[in-house]
Amino acid sequence: MNTPAKRRYIIALDQGTTSSRCVIFDNSGKIVQVVQKEFKQIFPKPGWVEHDPMEIYASQYSVMIEAIAQSGIHAKHILGIGITNQRETTIVWDKVSGKPIYNAIVWQCRRTADLVETIKKDKKMSEYIKENTGLLPDAYFSATKLQWILDNVEGAREKAERGELLFGTVDTWLMWKLTNGKIFATDYSNASRTMLYNIKDLCWDKKLCEYFNIPMNMLPEVKASSGIFGNVNMFDYDIPIAGVAGDQQSALFGQTCFAEGDVKTTYGTGCFLLMNIGSKYIKSKNGLVTTLAASSGKDGKPEYALEGSVFVGGAIVQWVRDQLRFIVDASDSEYFATKVKDNGGVYVVPAFTGLGAPYWDMYARGTIFGLTRGSNRNHIIRAALESIAYQVADLVGAMKMDTNLPIHAIKVDGGASKNNFLMQFQSDISDSEIIRGTSSESTALGVYYLTGLAVGLFKDKEEIKECESVGSSFKPKMSKEDREKYLSHWHKAVRMCQGWEDNN
Ligand code: ADP
Repeated sequence: MNTPAKRRYIIALDQGTTSSRCVIFDNSGKIVQVVQKEFKQIFPKPGWVEHDPMEIYASQYSVMIEAIAQSGIHAKHILGIGITNQRETTIVWDKVSGKPIYNAIVWQCRRTADLVETIKKDKKMSEYIKENTGLLPDAYFSATKLQWILDNVEGAREKAERGELLFGTVDTWLMWKLTNGKIFATDYSNASRTMLYNIKDLCWDKKLCEYFNIPMNMLPEVKASSGIFGNVNMFDYDIPIAGVAGDQQSALFGQTCFAEGDVKTTYGTGCFLLMNIGSKYIKSKNGLVTTLAASSGKDGKPEYALEGSVFVGGAIVQWVRDQLRFIVDASDSEYFATKVKDNGGVYVVPAFTGLGAPYWDMYARGTIFGLTRGSNRNHIIRAALESIAYQVADLVGAMKMDTNLPIHAIKVDGGASKNNFLMQFQSDISDSEIIRGTSSESTALGVYYLTGLAVGLFKDKEEIKECESVGSSFKPKMSKEDREKYLSHWHKAVRMCQGWEDNN
């Protein structure tokens, strides 16, 4: 243990979709202070989601100052700042005034869905996007949001063409503001979510910028996730920003998924699975996307990751709580699920907004199958929790098929990962060990490590691995026959709810 006199600190700024957080770690990895502030969600029309970029910056800056002040640490003992952020969210601002020309268009915003439908019809372009950005054309990613701002904000296109506007994801915006416009940069992991970045050649893709009509001079410089981006002057000290990564890639790094085949799943409102696939690009044949992981290697070259997401993860538990009113608190689900010996043949398919990978059926709708006179509330609660695990297992299956790699273990984090029943069932149904760490801060931990590597707190990734502590581990106990039976029922239930909206 370090003596207080030698204690040094790293500040992790975690800019999320609903709140800005600051987590201060000391050099032994201990969390010294956490300050969090929610900010306004703006819904101008159905399906549209915006944030005020100034509020993003102000809330992030104020939690940082408050965390420093409350912890009583001295600025000269801060080794560096790391930034992790909500991904894809798009901000355009005026280079001279430093003012955004429009609100941030948030990743969830569907305003460009029609535009994306047209792109999807252009098979050659869709294939080009998939091949070079690793992504499937979707309104989720930054490209069409940026195009929308340039096409819809008065005078924006002319200004952009004159080189007066800058584009950034939230990391870029924060760095630019924190350094008074001195740093205009992003990292590989964030760039790879824009649908404008060529993840094979590691450069902004000229053809895509032309296609989306984006002047390339408004795009930031792309750098390795671990390294000195520039200095923030705080209390008369220059503190380097030395680690930057998108939230999911930061969590992958925070979970020390450094080796090829390492997987993490975050169980939040939705679930996010990422697998480190090493230095070779793999194009998914099973509905996953390929993205750039947070880079830390000596040459600064990033590794690739396969990513899949479940739209309705922990949200099914919220639904059981708020709509069915079967439980009062999400954590009650574990108690009730274990009151019955099994699911009693009940399957919940939470396709509230269609089904994502590997089904990609936007016409599927949520359903409960297998009800009998013997079915009760606890069976439905149990089936709701099991549905999270089945969806994750489907993505694990897709990752195995894409990579031919076995998945012996899955590291987990996020709110619903606290549910022991769910974790054991996940282990059983995906036939993998589930490893839950002691820290609930994988995302912030990722940029703590990335920053620590850049400022010399850690020699290398092996040294980081030594800091890791396992909280609980869940090993598969289910027989192969049972696993196959459950999965076959689940897949049957999925088939039955597919194409529902379309047919009616
Ligand atoms: P997000 O970052 O997406 O807001 P969190 O990581 O905070 O999500 O997790 C919140 C989600 O986890 C909610 O959807 C909630 O229903 C679910 N959740 C929280 N605790 C439990 C639990 N003990 N069992 C099952 N689900 C839970």
